[in-house]
Amino acid sequence: MVAPRPVFAIAGGGLAAGRAVERLRELGFDGRLVLLTDEPRLPHERPPLSKQYLRGKLAESRLLVRPAAFYADYAVEVRTSTRVAAVSPSDRTLTLTDGERLPYDRLLLALGSEPVRPAIPGADLPGVATLRTVEDADGIRERLRPGASVLVLGAGFLGSEVAATAREMGCEVHLVEAGDLPLGPLGSVVAAWAADQHRAHGVHVRTATTAIRFEGAGQVEAALLGDGTTIPCQLVVAAVGARPRVQLAQMAGLQVRDGVLVDGACRTSAPEILAAGDIARFPSPGGTKRSEHWDNAQLQGRHAAEAMLGPVPDFSALPYVWTELYGSTVQQLGEWTPTRPALVRGDPASGRFTALQLDGGRLLACVAVNQYPALKWARQVMESGTILDPDKLEEEGPRVWSEPSAGPMTIHLD
Ligand SMILES: Cc1cc2nc3c(=O)[nH]c(=O)nc-3n(C[C@H](O)[C@H](O)[C@H](O)COP(=O)(O)OP(=O)(O)OC[C@H]3O[C@@H](n4cnc5c(N)ncnc54)[C@H](O)[C@@H]3O)c2cc1C
Repeated sequence: MVAPRPVFAIAGGGLAAGRAVERLRELGFDGRLVLLTDEPRLPHERPPLSKQYLRGKLAESRLLVRPAAFYADYAVEVRTSTRVAAVSPSDRTLTLTDGERLPYDRLLLALGSEPVRPAIPGADLPGVATLRTVEDADGIRERLRPGASVLVLGAGFLGSEVAATAREMGCEVHLVEAGDLPLGPLGSVVAAWAADQHRAHGVHVRTATTAIRFEGAGQVEAALLGDGTTIPCQLVVAAVGARPRVQLAQMAGLQVRDGVLVDGACRTSAPEILAAGDIARFPSPGGTKRSEHWDNAQLQGRHAAEAMLGPVPDFSALPYVWTELYGSTVQQLGEWTPTRPALVRGDPASGRFTALQLDGGRLLACVAVNQYPALKWARQVMESGTILDPDKLEEEGPRVWSEPSAGPMTIHLD
């Protein structure tokens, strides 16, 4: 008798899901492969949604992880606008919202995260938006008219990008941040540079305060801040964080703690169910962590796919994130600790500089602003475990510091 073909189900239609199906076929998995996503389109990328796509400079088709032909050629059954309503680990079956049941041999949860809406009066008024999906970006773009007053709440990566995009589109932009500076987690040098960039481009940056109420008759018209200021606005974009979509996992009895808990092989507490991307909380030196960044989603999606097929080494990847502001690229490699002293090479005013954090001679983190060679060097150093002599960094990195505008190395204490 011929053994039935195994069924691998992938729940989610983001980057982690897209990379997982790609890797499974790449590794020769020839069972049935079903991808279920509640979105109306194929697996796609989100970073352009706050950048080129939001500006109207990128077609929707360019967001796709893979074109439609890929899924047809590799026999991936993609079911769009299909929501998984329940997972039953005991009989290895998932149930869709229309009641259909799908048995699986392995299931990958790649359900991502969802934006947090501020819990303040008026947060549900039309014109108060969050940004996660193509539809969110389309709705926001419609309101980014030249001269429109836009309030962006939260100046992390997403809020800073939206503020920059809105400004580039000719809006009057107010960027409101509860912390001391935009992009604060990247350390005070980069954060101060980011604040200067926003101000130089005409964004009104307000820090150490937040919105306490939105007001309007049938549509947002103003935001009241904690410092007593009232800002008239026709659009609010709330970028105050995201939470992992753990409801399905919780209902299925999986272990959940601000994310679905997984081991180094992306396996959850139910052996046939794995999780990857924004939703997964995975082992990390000193405990566990969750990452809400592009590079992690793609690497973990691939890793989970490998683990669906057999034993794998524990997932390990240098944390990497990038962001774009007014044509500048900011890249971070490693874990940046805002309280640790930083070595800074180059003058932030020149728009090209690099901040490094070391523990003795070990490079822990690098944030490079418009300095690609520096980031490449940092990756080599970190991946090879090279021990640096902090006193000789100037001589040891001549290729890295070759940018003409880079000045001498200085030590900066946060
Ligand atoms: C606007 C924006 C800009 C970004 N820019 C950057 C950047 O510049 N750099 C960077 O490093 N990172 C960036 N990120 C973060 C990065 O895009 C995410 O980390 C990444 O998309 C996570 O991928 P994922 O596959 O884990 O989750 P997601 O992309 O969120 O995908 C999850 C999918 O699961 C679907 N789903 C959820 N529940 C169900 C269900 N019950 N049934 C079926 N389907 C379901 C969702 O609809 C979605 O399709 C950005 C994120 C956003 C939102």
